[in-house]
Parts: sequence; C-alpha cells; structure tokens
Amino acid sequence: MSAADSADPPPDCEYLIVGSGAGGGTVAARLAEAGKRVILLEAGGDPRELSGGDPVQPDVNRLPHDYDVPAFHAFASENKAMSWDFFVRHYGDDTQQRRDPKFVERHGGSSVNGIYYPRAGTLGGCTAHNAMILVYPHNADWDHIAELTGDVSWSAARMRTYFERLEDCRHRPVQRWLSKLGINPTRHGWRGWLRTETAIPMEAMRDRQLARVIHDSAREAFLEGGNRMQRVGWFLKGLLDPNDWRLVQENAVGVRCLPLTTDGHARRGSRERVLDVARRYPDRLTIVMNALATKVILDADRRAIGVEFLQGERLYRAHTPPSGQTGKRRALYASREVILAGGAFNSPQILMLSGIGPPEVLRRHGIEPRVPLPGVGTNLQDRYEVGVVYRMNMKAWEVYRGATFGSTDPQFAEWFRSRSGVYATNGAILTLFKRSTPDVPLPDLFCMALLARFEGYYPGYSGVFAKDLNALTWVVLKGHTNNRGGTVTLRSADPLDTPAINFNYFSDGDDADLNAVVEGIRFVRRVTRKLRERGLVAREDLPGDAVDDDKGLAEFVRSNAWGHHACGTCPIGSPDAGGVLSSDFRVHHTRNLRVVDASVFPRIPGFFLVSAVYMIGEKAAEVILADAAEK
Ligand SMILES: Cc1cc2nc3c(=O)[nH]c(=O)nc-3n(C[C@H](O)[C@H](O)[C@H](O)COP(=O)(O)OP(=O)(O)OC[C@H]3O[C@@H](n4cnc5c(N)ncnc54)[C@H](O)[C@@H]3O)c2cc1C
Repeated sequence: MSAADSADPPPDCEYLIVGSGAGGGTVAARLAEAGKRVILLEAGGDPRELSGGDPVQPDVNRLPHDYDVPAFHAFASENKAMSWDFFVRHYGDDTQQRRDPKFVERHGGSSVNGIYYPRAGTLGGCTAHNAMILVYPHNADWDHIAELTGDVSWSAARMRTYFERLEDCRHRPVQRWLSKLGINPTRHGWRGWLRTETAIPMEAMRDRQLARVIHDSAREAFLEGGNRMQRVGWFLKGLLDPNDWRLVQENAVGVRCLPLTTDGHARRGSRERVLDVARRYPDRLTIVMNALATKVILDADRRAIGVEFLQGERLYRAHTPPSGQTGKRRALYASREVILAGGAFNSPQILMLSGIGPPEVLRRHGIEPRVPLPGVGTNLQDRYEVGVVYRMNMKAWEVYRGATFGSTDPQFAEWFRSRSGVYATNGAILTLFKRSTPDVPLPDLFCMALLARFEGYYPGYSGVFAKDLNALTWVVLKGHTNNRGGTVTLRSADPLDTPAINFNYFSDGDDADLNAVVEGIRFVRRVTRKLRERGLVAREDLPGDAVDDDKGLAEFVRSNAWGHHACGTCPIGSPDAGGVLSSDFRVHHTRNLRVVDASVFPRIPGFFLVSAVYMIGEKAAEVILADAAEK
C-alpha cells in the first residue's frame, strides 16, 4: 500500500533515489529487482555516451576509453565530460593552507582558494573514475556501528553476507570451484553483480628492472617486523588476497595483490549495474539523467514525498566549465520513500537546501529550518595520503616503451586485443598492509607502489602520468584516521553552487595520525633501500633525502597530505551526539527519507571506501524491503 495521502500529488514511483554512485546505484537496482517501481535521478550523463578530453589530449574525445581502460583511471577523474571539480580546504588557516604546493587560487576563471578534489558527476558516480580497488573493510568497523546503535544487524559476521551477495569473485579459481561443492572458507561472493579480478602484468616479470623492484621490495617488507611464521601462514591461506575472510578476521598484515572491479579487465561499477537492471525491468527502473536534485519536498508532517530538480546538462558549478544555464525546474513524487545518495559532499548539501540541518546555517542563507539537525555536514573524515616519489635510473619502464596513453600505442593494442598488459592494471604493482606501531589495534598503514609520479590531486595531475615514465611512487595511506573535525556547509542557498568544504586536518587525535604517516614514509624508505643500493633508483624526488628528521617529515606530511575517501557527513548515531541517521538509514525527525552513501559512516571504515559503500547499499535495500513488507 502506498503511504501517500490522497491530497499529495500523484506519485510517479514508489522510491525516488538521488545519485547513481556506489550507494544509490546499488540500492536502486536491488529495489527494482525486488519488484519496486524506482526512479533514479542522476545529475550527470552516461560516461560511455559522452565526449570529453582530459589533460593528455584536451581537445580530443577520450571516452569511452578513459572509462573502460583500468590504467586510464586518473584520466577519467579529469575527463571534462564527467568530472566534478571541487576545491576544498585542508585547513582553515590560510598560511598553513598555502604551504601545500597543490594549493590553487583560481580555476576556470574563478577564485577557488583550495585543493582540487576530484569527484564524478556522471552515471555511476565515483565508481566511474575510481581506481577500482576493492579492499574489504575491517570487521571492527562494522562492530563499532553495531555497538554504537545497539543494532546487531551491523555486526561484522552479518555484514559479510552483503559482500557475498554483491561480489562475483574471479581471482580465486580454486576456491570458486570448491564453492560449488558448498565449501567457502574465503566467504567470497561468486554469483553477485560486481565482478572482481586481479591484474598482474606478466610483462612486469619480463621487465628485469620492474621484476627486481617487486622482488626486492616484497623481500625487504617480509624481512621487516616479526610474526614471520604467521605471515607465511596467511600467505598460504590467502594467496595475497586481502578480502579472504580468514585474513580479514585476523586483521592480517603483509604483501597483498589488489582485487579490481573489472570484467574482462575493463571497468565495472554501479553504471553497469543500473543499466542492466533498467534493461531487464524497464517498467520498474527509470533512470533520469542530467537531473540535479535541489530539494527534498517535505509535507507538513516532515514526510518526504518528492524531489525538486533542475533538468539540463552541466548545470552544477563543479563542472569546468558549467553550462551557465539554470535548467528546467521539475518535480517527481514517490509514494513510499525518497533516498539521498549524492555522496559525502552533496547529500548534506541537499538536506540543508531542504531545511534539514543546523538551524543557524540555514537561517544565515535564508532557508527556513524545517528539521533542526545540527549533525548534518559535520563529522567529515578522510584518509591522509602522501607520495614518496622515486626517479628510476633509466629513461622509462620497459612496460611503458612507446606508451602515449592513447588508443594508438602498443599497450592499448594489447589491452584491446587480449585484455592484458600494463593497461589492464591500475598501475599498482605491489601493496603492503602494516601496523604503524605494534600496539595499534588494527593495521593502519596501506602502502602501494605505483608506476607513476603521483603527489596528490591538482588540476592537470593526471597528465603527469603520461609523461613521467620512469617514476615509482609509494603511496602511503593512513587508515582509521582520528580526525573527525571536517565540515561541509552551504556556501549559498543556490543549489548550483558547490558547498564549502573544510577537512580541518589533524584537528583530532593528537599527533597519532601524523606520526603514523611519518612511520609509513620511513617504512617505504627501508623497503626501497636495496633498490637504491643496486643503483636502480636514481634519487628520491619527494620528500627528498634532505627531509629526514621527524620534524621535517611531519612538516612534509602536514603540507602535502591529501585524501580521496570523503565520508561521514550524515552519520548514523543519536541526534544528541551529532547523529543524522538511525541505524536503518532514516533521517532523524523525518519520515520516508533516508541517506545511503558514503555520508552514513560514523567513523571512516577500513583502508578503502567503495566496498563499504556498496555493502551498505545492499543492506539498505534489504531494510527498505523489509519495512515495505510490514506496511
Ligand atoms: C579519484 C578517486 C579515486 C578513487 N578510487 C577508489 C578506489 O580505487 N577504491 C575505493 O574503495 N574507493 C575509491 N574512491 C572512493 C569511492 O569511489 C567513493 O568513496 C564512492 O564512490 C562513494 O560512493 P557514494 O555513493 O557515496 O558517492 P558517489 O559514488 O560519488 O556517487 C554520488 C552520485 O550522486 C550524484 N549526485 C550528487 N549530487 C546530486 C544531485 N544534487 N542531484 C542528482 N545527482 C547528484 C553524482 O553525480 C554521483 O553520480 C575513489 C575516489 C576518487 C575521487
């Protein structure tokens, strides 16, 4: 039965969902598969149908290859047809902010005063440009939510079932076969909609220098630290698979090989999921693209009944350049629920534009507070990442010989012909999970060797990937950051404006995060020591040999760190403690309104985010269907 009153406008669907990324796409597809009538509003267009250039070839259409080819993910993040360019603050303090070499004053003719933060305003959201890495969160992340809310459905053991439901694992062939006999100790999913594969560039093994880098780095990492027998045991069980349930349960550390969300070594994400379901059930799932949601329509009882939106291409000012148009004003109505999934920057913005949020912020912008909820837009969290960049003692990696990162080079031909070679990878050759100190409860450092120069995000950063062909970057990523002091707030009441975002780096947790990243830098220096002795590494470009004492390294981290896993801005938790959502994703003090995206996490989960967001998408669908069955 529809929950709508007869006085409401006639509903266009049962569920109206805003945003087709990892959260929104997942929940929309599952609800439609279960027989519900769903409309999915997406601000952008379909990335495989659009045309756009990137820093490698600004005036040439680089789609759909930027989307499809795993090694082109950085170009996808800057492809003009699909990118949303946010400029964020890491610090409120201007002097500290300007110490970051990535600080940008003006962009696209406007003053931005911030650090570039790529997002995708397109079908599939950030799954259309991310690095496709699917790493399972820590079990403690889920148990913490269960503890916080008293809702045992969030316990780690239960949450694994959502991963099993969504995954179609193709990188553990023996285990896949055993699963057919009902034996599944890895607790991978084998029949889900999201395929996972690993891509090991076999050429890498033929490239003597690269093989040496992999071998020596892995060896040094293995020799460092204790528990060698345990790590050998993990290797034998998990075969470098970070998502093997047995390793997840034991918070295992060591060398890992990253699973990617690819199918036949081409990108897959929520775009493919929603298009597939819309094709199979055209009467149930309608996707409305180029539709920028501006407001949730609440009735007098604070019940969400619909969404207002602007129809048109490139309306939002995160596009560079935006169309400059204001679009056609429209509204759609849902008989059951409205679900926001615009991501960590946009869901709080839409809530605030709808009168749901901190009353003083709303009043400042002339918005009538309908639902006072101070937590909206607070609790913004992210990782801290830095790059230790090495210049190798050769002109270019062998695997990059002749590479132009276009569709006419030998690497592309190989990917196109046989879906193999270096373009089938996302550029990562080796990954290490580690604890920054033996006493931290969970592994908190993720170190990844990339065949590229990567020092964080600034406009044009991806162009360097195609030029600097003899670089090796060890990305050091700090998991479970302590800082929860970031904010997303309104810049204005104009829905075409981006919100004001300040991560307030290092404002919580003393110097624990900072010290951990410094330890990460020292660790990768130890790991590369052998390569330097062999003369393979010419020099360390960043931070550089001159930066060696704790103070210098800490300053480097403060001024250079970046993140790309923004989350937590509509956190699950009680309203008194700054929470915005109940444990079933409902916005407090409202009816028929939920948020299902990276905003929901009270604390940033795991090392990577997208696996957790896909999982909560599946969980939300289950909860919503159970609620509908009761009514
Ligand atoms: C460059 C980059 C690389 C990354 N790589 C990885 C990785 O390898 N592994 C990993 O785990 N994580 C990665 N991430 C993070 C991960 O992809 C995101 O955390 C995840 O996609 C977030 O899902 P979401 O549903 O919250 O939001 P999104 O996926 O961003 O989806 C939000 C969607 O909502 C739409 N939208 C927003 N506002 C509106 C509106 N007002 N009206 C209509 N539609 C709207 C947007 O267009 C978008 O499609 C990466 C992120 C970036 C930026």
